[in-house]
Amino acid sequence: MKSYTKILYLSTFLSILCSCASNKKGNTDAIEEDDPDSEMCETCEGRGFFVKTCGECDGEGAVECDNCDGTGREECTMCFGKGKKKCTWCYGNGREKCSSCHGSGVNLYDEEEACSSCNGKGYKECTTCWGKGYDECSYCFHQGYEDCDDCDGEGRTECEECEGHGKIKVTCTECEGEGKILK
Ligand SMILES: [Zn+2]
Ligand SMILES: [Zn+2]
Ligand SMILES: [Zn+2]
Ligand SMILES: [Zn+2]
Ligand SMILES: [Zn+2]
Ligand SMILES: [Zn+2]
Repeated sequence: MKSYTKILYLSTFLSILCSCASNKKGNTDAIEEDDPDSEMCETCEGRGFFVKTCGECDGEGAVECDNCDGTGREECTMCFGKGKKKCTWCYGNGREKCSSCHGSGVNLYDEEEACSSCNGKGYKECTTCWGKGYDECSYCFHQGYEDCDDCDGEGRTECEECEGHGKIKVTCTECEGEGKILK
């Protein structure tokens, strides 16, 4: 019984070998899975697609960020890029009207005397901005810019065309992606 099985195996093996050999000779009635009416597409070597370097990013997988033109920064919206904001208390003058003399510079009770509070000047240094006329922008740490939201300050974003791979699959037009062509 055992030897019979062996022989059966052997004969099956031999018949496979035979059919392969006859296939090469162009015998089409052998066990052939591929459609005999088609042949492998030589343009794409049967793959149905090509792998090409992404033209959008030159294969780098990343492109310059549109939002910040690649600088990685965008202007601070709170101070319009100045890094500081005009003092709203003194309108940027750096000084405020003396409240003791209402800006006249003279002592209200004795017009011969200069206002002691402002030394006769009629104004005092703005206490909000300490005479600078502006406040440093706390939003951007007075840099005038912040990291670009779109690229986290990198200046580059992932290429959408190739999803960051740098390469794209292009379907073979010769075989329409089938990898084989009808004869
Ligand atoms: Zn092809
Ligand atoms: Zn950006
Ligand atoms: Zn700012
Ligand atoms: Zn005064
Ligand atoms: Zn001020
Ligand atoms: Zn790309």
